[in-house]
Amino acid sequence: MLTIRKKFILLLGVVFIGGAVIFNLVLNKVFYEGFKSSITKNMEDNYRVSIKNFDDYIAFNSLSRETLKESDINSKAIKFIVDRVSCRGVFFSLDGKVLATGSPSLEEVDLGEITKLPNSFEKAKDNNTVIDIENSKGRVLAKLSYLIYGEGNEKIGVLVLIKDYTELYLNNENTKKIVYVVAFSVFSILLILIYILLSRLIKPLSLLKEGAENLANGKYPKEIMVKTKDEIGVLSLAFNNMNLSLQKKERQEKDLFRNITHELKTPLSAIGGYAQVLRGDGFDDEEFKNKALDRIISESKRMNEMVVALLSIGQQNSDLEEYAYTKVELERLLEKILLGEEIKIKEKGLRLEKNTEEVLVLGNLFYLRILLSNLISNGIKYSNRESKIEITLRKEENLCRFSIKTVGEEIPLDFKEKIFEAFVRVKKEGFASKESNGLGLYIAKNIVEAHGGEIWVEALGEVSIFYFTLPLA
Ligand code: ADP
Repeated sequence: MLTIRKKFILLLGVVFIGGAVIFNLVLNKVFYEGFKSSITKNMEDNYRVSIKNFDDYIAFNSLSRETLKESDINSKAIKFIVDRVSCRGVFFSLDGKVLATGSPSLEEVDLGEITKLPNSFEKAKDNNTVIDIENSKGRVLAKLSYLIYGEGNEKIGVLVLIKDYTELYLNNENTKKIVYVVAFSVFSILLILIYILLSRLIKPLSLLKEGAENLANGKYPKEIMVKTKDEIGVLSLAFNNMNLSLQKKERQEKDLFRNITHELKTPLSAIGGYAQVLRGDGFDDEEFKNKALDRIISESKRMNEMVVALLSIGQQNSDLEEYAYTKVELERLLEKILLGEEIKIKEKGLRLEKNTEEVLVLGNLFYLRILLSNLISNGIKYSNRESKIEITLRKEENLCRFSIKTVGEEIPLDFKEKIFEAFVRVKKEGFASKESNGLGLYIAKNIVEAHGGEIWVEALGEVSIFYFTLPLA
């Protein structure tokens, strides 16, 4: 598999090689053009001086342009022409033979390279002044060639001014090398920096990949530490949250399973115990027999209710996701439920105070009814006789907020969170206390959260207020 790291290394390699090739081409061109133009300029100056010298030579020697012969241009003449030009001169006949050579200094003219025909000899013969830059055997020579006319305006030969630019060329090459080294270093440092930056960016990705693989194998990975706030940082944060919520869910499921088995064990052993006593030989206590049978019936009934409630939770979790929600008028639903509870409220002598308004939420009518019923029947169940129950339902920005305030059984501080878990009751009276299985608030919390809301309790001594919020439709 081509990992991101490999892809980037490949890309950096291509950029590096491509960059080096282009840079090399451009640098060569720039340096060569500079070198060429300075030589051309210098040789043009030399050309002008040589022309002037030539005229002087003709004047001093009482010659004339019109009567000039091939033999007039000898070594002496060339020496005069190239004086102060610091070039060497070679006079070629039209068929390319060396007729005379000359040098401004005393040194002898080095034949060989110097006496080779310039590359543009033919062009010069056509009456062009041409400059050749010739590089051979480590020497760089500039050759300026121009045509000489003589008697009867006839072409008599080509005069070539030759100058050695090897030193300038070598200096030029050295400077080029320095530029190369500097550019290469800067470019390499840049690439290394990009690579380091990239490695930093990629590292969390490989941690994420490892984490996801662990999760897929059922192992919970460690928290991924990414401090950046870019997309990768956000992704890591989301991954950490997902990891935590999966762990929480697994814990909750384990707890639920443990609690279910525990809660079922108690009534089952009670039923088994009573049944065994009843079957015992010589048992004739009628009163105990009736009590035992009553207990067996009530325990089975409660167990049945609990199983039904548990089944409804399982059902509810899939239902809540599947069913399309409708607009529910929560105030009207509340009124209906309170109507159904009227007898119980009267029996306990409770005073009901309401502060509600019309609210519309998007939800599942069936489960919202269960939610309100659970909270209201709890309120009645755990209130002191003759106390007050206050119910509010109000809009708040884009939410609706329900609360039920009661005075009665105290909820200790350490129960504030736990109370919403399955099978948790403040007073664990076991199965003697009817109508209590510790599932009501657990179901309520499931419903609220599936609707995108929140549920919580505030408790101070005998006063408890249960709240929930739901998004408005
Ligand atoms: P259940 O009512 O079946 O026990 P719930 O989950 O509905 O189960 O409630 C859990 C516990 O929370 C109750 O046993 C009770 O101790 C406490 N509780 C619930 N509602 C109230 C309330 N309005 N006032 C005081 N305590 C309450």
